[in-house]
Amino acid sequence: MTSPAHANDRPTALVIHGGAGVIERDALDAGEDRAIRADLDRALDAGHAVLARGGSALDAAEAAVRALEESPRFNAGKGAVFNAEGRHELDASVMEGHTRRAGAVAGVTTVRNPVRLARAVMEHSPHVMLIGDGAEAFADTRPELDRVDNRWFDTDHRREQLEQAQAREAAARHSGAADPADLKGTYFGTVGAVALDAHGHIAAATSTGGMTNKRWGRVGDSPVIGAGTWADDRCGVSGTGWGEFFIRAAVAHDICARVAYRGDSLQAAADEVLMNVVPGLGGDGGAIALDADGNIAMPFNTSGMYRGWVKPDGSRGTAIFREE
Ligand code: ASP
Repeated sequence: MTSPAHANDRPTALVIHGGAGVIERDALDAGEDRAIRADLDRALDAGHAVLARGGSALDAAEAAVRALEESPRFNAGKGAVFNAEGRHELDASVMEGHTRRAGAVAGVTTVRNPVRLARAVMEHSPHVMLIGDGAEAFADTRPELDRVDNRWFDTDHRREQLEQAQAREAAARHSGAADPADLKGTYFGTVGAVALDAHGHIAAATSTGGMTNKRWGRVGDSPVIGAGTWADDRCGVSGTGWGEFFIRAAVAHDICARVAYRGDSLQAAADEVLMNVVPGLGGDGGAIALDADGNIAMPFNTSGMYRGWVKPDGSRGTAIFREE
């Protein structure tokens, strides 16, 4: 399928993800597969419409992430995972490449679209990152933000995931067999977008509910600028995976630093970080990356990553598994 990807004759491009993780073909029935791809397509439509009318990369990335937050199928906004107390604590961030402005929130509980709050932090506060009650109090000053009861984010399948995680944890405590620190496969469905606009500007955005059964105010990479999200004037990244390792590897910044300092191609830089550095530390996950020429990279070391793209030539697609 093609659509015009040029405005003012400069290439535009958009890449999105709906999370990396254990996504097996056999476990995903045809209806669910179709529904996920339709949601990815809707997010591409939302983001690309902005780019096609000459809008900013920031608006496009936010629009795509918002569309994914509204879908109950991804772990962001509606459909976010439950923490150990059976509630939702949401994290999000945005970064605008050419200005290096950034905004982030962590542990928010009543903001329907955390990516909008992250952007508001960037544009309407002197700060980059706000957390918990303070982020909620800042949200109170922004009447344009929709607020919801925390239970609005609930979905049955996330509650089942919490129950399974807590049952596994209890079994591990009794038998001592499983390693409770092994969180592989317990994350799923974080969303993100990176856009290149007709002015040659790049922006990235990421939003998540974090990890199922998290406690102690745990915050992963998604709202950490340089770890889950990064954009500069040549390169932008949004990550998804076992966040502790993405923080330790400064994944998003490392990819763009390799492009800037070493002259690596975007693909080589993204592959090296996701296929070697992160697994070398013991972590897993994936990332989407985009450069100023509209090149796109989408490496992941898990069995799947929900993803979609619109390239500068207008070609677009969605994919879930490795071999597609
Ligand atoms: N990276 C996210 C986190 O650790 C989870 C995910 O990507 O699904 O919070």
